[in-house]
Amino acid sequence: MTNTNTTDQGPDIARLIDAVPTGLFIDGAWRKASGGGTLEVRNPATGEVLTSVADATEQDGLAALAAADEAQSRWAATPPRERSEILRRAFDLLVERTEDVATLMTLEMGKPLAESRGEVAYAAEFFRWFAEEAVRIHGSYMTAPNGASHLLTMKQPVGPCLMVTPWNFPLAMGTRKIGPALAAGCTMVVKPASETPLTMLALAALLAEAGVPAGVVNVITTSSSGAVMEPLIRDPRARKLTFTGSTAIGRKLVEQSAEQLLRVSMELGGNAPFIVFDDADLDAAVDGAMAAKMRNIGEACTAANRFFVHESVASEFGTRFAERMCAMTVGDGLAEGVTVGPLITEKAVGEVTALVEGAVEAGATKLCGDEAVPEVGNFLAPTVLVDVPGQADIARQEIFGPVAALQTFTDEDDAIARANDTEYGLASYFYTRDHARAMRVAEKLQYGMVGVNAGVISNPAAPFGGVKASGFGREGGFEGIEEYLETKYVAMPR
Ligand code: NAP
Repeated sequence: MTNTNTTDQGPDIARLIDAVPTGLFIDGAWRKASGGGTLEVRNPATGEVLTSVADATEQDGLAALAAADEAQSRWAATPPRERSEILRRAFDLLVERTEDVATLMTLEMGKPLAESRGEVAYAAEFFRWFAEEAVRIHGSYMTAPNGASHLLTMKQPVGPCLMVTPWNFPLAMGTRKIGPALAAGCTMVVKPASETPLTMLALAALLAEAGVPAGVVNVITTSSSGAVMEPLIRDPRARKLTFTGSTAIGRKLVEQSAEQLLRVSMELGGNAPFIVFDDADLDAAVDGAMAAKMRNIGEACTAANRFFVHESVASEFGTRFAERMCAMTVGDGLAEGVTVGPLITEKAVGEVTALVEGAVEAGATKLCGDEAVPEVGNFLAPTVLVDVPGQADIARQEIFGPVAALQTFTDEDDAIARANDTEYGLASYFYTRDHARAMRVAEKLQYGMVGVNAGVISNPAAPFGGVKASGFGREGGFEGIEEYLETKYVAMPR
């Protein structure tokens, strides 16, 4: 995507959409799908079709993998400084195009424009961080304990990678994989979600402009993800699979990846606890709860899903939190002042509504959530539920919407046990002023990430990832590049 004219209201939408390539990006060229099929992309705020993109077939997927395989040895041999500078140019271009990319993201995914701008900044940062890491890949040298030989290790790229990304962060979930893979010297086939392909297609064009050679990054869009990806996962030319999405699909892909014993990273679903202890700074806890719950309209794997509030502060916390939730503005993410955009699909609205109704039937009370929302579009009012029974579906499943479910507790160990009582283990949060408690609780929470008095934990310089059914592998931080590197050991007698 090139820069579009910008009016006082922001970029010209029609021009912006027209500037996005809609083909498959294979071996450095834009192609139609081999079957000639296309896939419609809709705006969840209006239901309108924005445009159509190529609908890849299995044959197209295999062509993309062939291109990645062919480019692998050349890209691995490209000097790290060159790979680094390409990534740095990609960072600069992305930052320069923030307004266009953010608008595109809001159009196809729905999040408020301010949050899309935030995602562009976050996503671009992975390019900058891994541009810096590309030139710091190193091995080791030592003398064996018996003195008989030298033991050397060297790091080499894993090889062609398959990347599958979700719709909720259409840009950042891509750059978090593409950045380290490029830095490490890996080529790739990227498959974005069918609801939000435009952002990734725009990114593919930007990466080519930044100097990524043909065949290194290939992007395929498809309405038949399973049928197109399975043959690639089972193909011996692929060496790594990295997936961000639901636990159910992740499990399936891990099974498929067993055939070729692929290196695998899985960033899966969450069911984050948010604990407010009796000694918490309640102003900070309410701010943190808003961020942890409402970032991305609640459609985030890190979203606070289960609130556990100490009985002595539950009423005050619930009232203040509900006031803030009720005051949010629901509408089209492009409109001024909107803080809650539409959910991704009508089906998602139905699923979240069913969880709320189930909780109320089970005895929960609604503090807010009945405010009117626009009739057209997939909108849902921010909702706060208190006295939610622990066995209600809403307390056990990932909500993925603007709904907060509050429970109370009296004892620290009980709060931790209930927080850990889930198959998931991605993000967790708690608020306390007691430093000893902070360390104690952080150690005991069975999660890959813990926010202590912090409602936002994602940071490109930190290792993002989960344990248990939230997956394995880390993205970002010093660990992020290791997912794309193999360690080779070389023995040399003295
Ligand atoms: P999803 O249904 O699992 O889809 C994720 C991606 O997988 C999409 O690109 C999808 O393509 C593709 N896919 C679906 N079925 C497939 C198959 N059989 N073979 C290969 N690919 C397949 O998840 P989602 O609803 O888009 O995303 C929400 C989930 O992602 C939530 O559970 C959330 O917690 C999780 N998530 C996790 C993280 C993390 O870092 N841990 C970050 C963000 C989101 P189609 O669009 O064509 O179906």
